[in-house]
Amino acid sequence: MCETTPRAERALPQSPQAPAIARSFLRHETCLVHTGAVVEDAVLLVSELVTNSALHGGPPIVVAAECDGHALQVRVRDGNATPPRPRQAAASDESGRGLELVDLLSSDWGVDPFEEGKHVWFVLRAGGGPYAG
Ligand SMILES: [Zn+2]
Repeated sequence: MCETTPRAERALPQSPQAPAIARSFLRHETCLVHTGAVVEDAVLLVSELVTNSALHGGPPIVVAAECDGHALQVRVRDGNATPPRPRQAAASDESGRGLELVDLLSSDWGVDPFEEGKHVWFVLRAGGGPYAG
């Protein structure tokens, strides 16, 4: 567990401003002691997930970030239970392309059912880099 930075979450509006709010949230709330090296990757990926949720998911849209001392886990929750399907996405499908990026850059990711909707989450490990100790 991380003893420096507590888990943080923030509710987002279902609007075109949601990705920018999520990016700002991560830059301010992410644990820089342990996961500073992966913050910009997290910002890029959360932007994709929140864009999907704002376009295709329903409220409530909530972003959460948690450090475990080695890795950063980011979750984006929305009110649409339909899981995203990156492999079947057409080239013109923005949500599918976003998930392919998540698959490419993250250490792990997945989709969990939650109440009436879902969580889409990813993990970025901060190995190497100036913060690895
Ligand atoms: Zn930490």
